[in-house]
Amino acid sequence: MPNPRGFLLENAATLVTMNDARDVVTDAWVAARDGLVTAVGRGPAPALVDGAPPAEFARFDARGCVVLPGLVNTHHHLYQTRTRAWRGVVDSGLFPWLRTLYPVWAKLTDEQFHRAAVVGCRELLRSGCTLTTDHHYLFPRAASPRLLDIVIEAALSTGIRFHPTRGSMSRSVRDGGLPPDDVVQDADTILADSERVVGRWHDPRPGAAVRVALAPCSPFSVDPELMRRTAELARRHGLRLHTHLAETRDENEYCERIYGCRPLDFLERVGWLGPDVWLAHGIWFDDDEIARLGRAGTGIAHCPSSNMRLGSGICRVRELRRAGSPVGLAVDGSASNDSSNLLAELRQALLLHRVLGGAAAMTVQEVLEMATLGGARCLGREDTGAIAPGRACDLAVFDLEAIGYDGADDPVAALLLCHPEPARATIVGGLVVYDRDAEDPDAR
Ligand SMILES: [Zn+2]
Repeated sequence: MPNPRGFLLENAATLVTMNDARDVVTDAWVAARDGLVTAVGRGPAPALVDGAPPAEFARFDARGCVVLPGLVNTHHHLYQTRTRAWRGVVDSGLFPWLRTLYPVWAKLTDEQFHRAAVVGCRELLRSGCTLTTDHHYLFPRAASPRLLDIVIEAALSTGIRFHPTRGSMSRSVRDGGLPPDDVVQDADTILADSERVVGRWHDPRPGAAVRVALAPCSPFSVDPELMRRTAELARRHGLRLHTHLAETRDENEYCERIYGCRPLDFLERVGWLGPDVWLAHGIWFDDDEIARLGRAGTGIAHCPSSNMRLGSGICRVRELRRAGSPVGLAVDGSASNDSSNLLAELRQALLLHRVLGGAAAMTVQEVLEMATLGGARCLGREDTGAIAPGRACDLAVFDLEAIGYDGADDPVAALLLCHPEPARATIVGGLVVYDRDAEDPDAR
């Protein structure tokens, strides 16, 4: 994936580095080689960058633009892009929404999974996202035995950096779970396919295009034994672990009834409370649970649109971050958002927390931290999330002359306060993988 030629982005009006000093550079340039940033500077690019004249580089003119580190999406279900705004659940909460959609998802074909991944990733790229995960836990009986490979190949065809998860569901209604029988698999099948996918795709090296994580779906769709065996497999291979947790009050009641404890106690009992785990939603934690999560360094994928859409509740992100948990932002699946616009999610996060706690309850800078460095920490990607030498050259470029930003004073705040516009360009590993003017001229 990385651009083997040098890459030079120049003339950026404002460059938000998110480096250790949180430098914001005006009239900036960024140089990269082999997909990694080599230098960042102010003013005209020097005659020699990294020992070579910039004329030899692939160049991008970011005149009039704000450049952010590529945004990181920490939770998604790409397949749901085929079932947006599904009739019958437009006004439903999580459990009825799931019960209606499971049978619909069970009929998706390989072609639909492929198309959903392409559409979801292109939409993410268009909103400045350069790294996404995909919580893929749905393996219909009629699907290819290599379904996850189909999804991974589709995502990579868009140029995005991709962290697929081999998700799973093993507990159906027959065993007291929520999903129907025809969408669950047994533990041996799940773990064998996990091993296969990891062997084929997982790349632990810095700058990797693909890293695999393991992701049993939720306390109400898997059994504790699968959780334990999955953690053991993940730790043997140095993989991260992901699941849904504490999304709704229904889930609390389910855990009390089935396991006799709260969701976080369940997580701890199966050996999952650790720094190699990040959780989707994490809404219904009490003070003691937030302290435990912080001590463990367990991450949270905050999904404000989905939480509002399903009426699930509001994640206590500031408390979680203060306690020591990495918090990232996420669009969640496209059947509960129903969009993969990550820039829009930054705006939702900013506004949601202000509803609850006043204008000081969430700042533009905190949201930017979550969308970049916080997300990178959740995914274990400390080679992304900032524009600094040695980090991946993943950039989100926004045009301040786009109609939605015209007249804005603070160019960085504009990206969150104004209605989100498509990126001018999105760059992954020093390659332009989304170019608005080439692909989407009407958005200019
Ligand atoms: Zn989800």
